[in-house]
Amino acid sequence: MTETAPSKAEKGPSSVRDPHHAAGQQRPGQQTAQRFSGRGSQSSRGAGAGTSTVKNARNSTAPTAPGHLAPLDTDASAAPDPLTIGRQLRHLRKASGKTLSEVADEAGISASALSLIENGKREAKLSLLATLAGALDVGLSDLLTVAAPSRRAALEIELEKAQRTTAFRDLDIPAVRPGPRLQTEALESLVGLHRAMARIQAERAATPEQARRANADLRDRMRRQGNYFGEIETVAANLLSATKYEGGPITRTVVDRLAAHLGFRLVHTTDLPESTRTVTDLAHRIVYLPQPDAGQHDSRSLALQALGHVVLDHSVPQDYSEFLEQRVEINYFAASLLIPEKGALALLKRAKAAKDIAIEDLRDAYAVSYETAAHRFTNLATRHLDLPVHFMRISSSGVIYKAYENDGVHFPTDATGAIEGQRVCRYWTARVVFDRPDLSSAYQQYTDTKSGTYWCTAVVDRTSAGLFSVSVGVPYADVKWMRGRETGERSKSRCPDPGCCSQPPAELAGRWEGSAWPSARVHSHLLAAMPPGVFPGVDQTDVLTFLERHSKS
Ligand SMILES: [Zn+2]
Repeated sequence: MTETAPSKAEKGPSSVRDPHHAAGQQRPGQQTAQRFSGRGSQSSRGAGAGTSTVKNARNSTAPTAPGHLAPLDTDASAAPDPLTIGRQLRHLRKASGKTLSEVADEAGISASALSLIENGKREAKLSLLATLAGALDVGLSDLLTVAAPSRRAALEIELEKAQRTTAFRDLDIPAVRPGPRLQTEALESLVGLHRAMARIQAERAATPEQARRANADLRDRMRRQGNYFGEIETVAANLLSATKYEGGPITRTVVDRLAAHLGFRLVHTTDLPESTRTVTDLAHRIVYLPQPDAGQHDSRSLALQALGHVVLDHSVPQDYSEFLEQRVEINYFAASLLIPEKGALALLKRAKAAKDIAIEDLRDAYAVSYETAAHRFTNLATRHLDLPVHFMRISSSGVIYKAYENDGVHFPTDATGAIEGQRVCRYWTARVVFDRPDLSSAYQQYTDTKSGTYWCTAVVDRTSAGLFSVSVGVPYADVKWMRGRETGERSKSRCPDPGCCSQPPAELAGRWEGSAWPSARVHSHLLAAMPPGVFPGVDQTDVLTFLERHSKS
């Protein structure tokens, strides 16, 4: 990857924006509170929402041959929107030869109210629609049909909808009224342009740069809320009390009980599609999981994450940022069940009072990995213990895989503000830990950086993909609460000053000038565009054939 100087401008508050702001779509983040509130244990939406989960691949962005606009998508399962109903109403009224005021009179409403309904600007109640259908001598189902009454009407509806999106309104281009005076030819052309624009936007959203920006935006948001999701904590706590959990580690049995409580069955299988971690059959309410011993992932966590999509009422992600956001939410959901807030807080508050906070204690009390415990600690530390923290998972070559901070530590960033794939200073605890003779125990160190002195604790995690370090740190002022603060280890980092560690020492560089020619190990995934599909990289055919096979067995 090319080295890009971090741009200070990227850090300004103006670059902090909701990842969905420009997308012209629903903003799931904002609805979190409503979406989580009042959710019963049996998610009634689960099955319904799910049937569309896999089959609704983004066909709306499929290219169309120029000059031949395909007819509108008329998904028979979709409910007609007010605009389609309005157009249908107008079409039927004109066909009946009646005027606006005649029909309005018969239905007992004003002509202007009827006009608003016909223009899709007011939503009519079902009872009023029934009355209107009666006035026009047609059935209610004629009004509620999803198919537009004519090709012309379909184009008018599509143009009107396109012009109502935030994406279009943000462009500040005047809208065209799709009235009778607009020639069909012009209408075709405008609709074609809108479709092309939507397609280009979708393609742009699939570039690695967009993905990196989405990641950076999400990290900003997490930092602002102290890495804490109160609504998910409440959902998790309610679920646990509904299943009579009384404390201690969440065993497999507890997970099975939770699934059963939600109306799901957990099935371990050996033939999961290569591109998936789990597959959920929403129709039969089964979560398919890998064999418990396969891979490094805790199967409890995988099961809880899969259930998280259902409990948190996720629908098919509209774009990569929503996909990411859902990922963060299901991870959080699983962690808040594996390490319940109430018990973890009791433990951590006791530890703080004794000035003896240690990630290992959380890990051991709940039988989870160090990484899960460390990550979970960051959820609770700022909100409940008043501790700013940072967390990192990096490879043995120092490349960041995951990181979070709200304690002012400066992670290296690229021009998009992304940190994933960047290399951290070789004098940081997270990297020094790899040089320790004993990789099995936690290593603590004080590090002086340009943004202050931090104390960090790190452990090395051995995986099939190599060695990783997981580290947690706090600013010097807060080290008094942490176990391991008595360490005498100390180092100094001058990064991002290139003289610190990103450039070789001058003397060494001079001696080898012109004589060193390494061959780079290319990280192809960094060059590739984002994997396509609603669920990036997932092979839909594999998933569907898998479900077919299992639903018949
Ligand atoms: Zn450095």
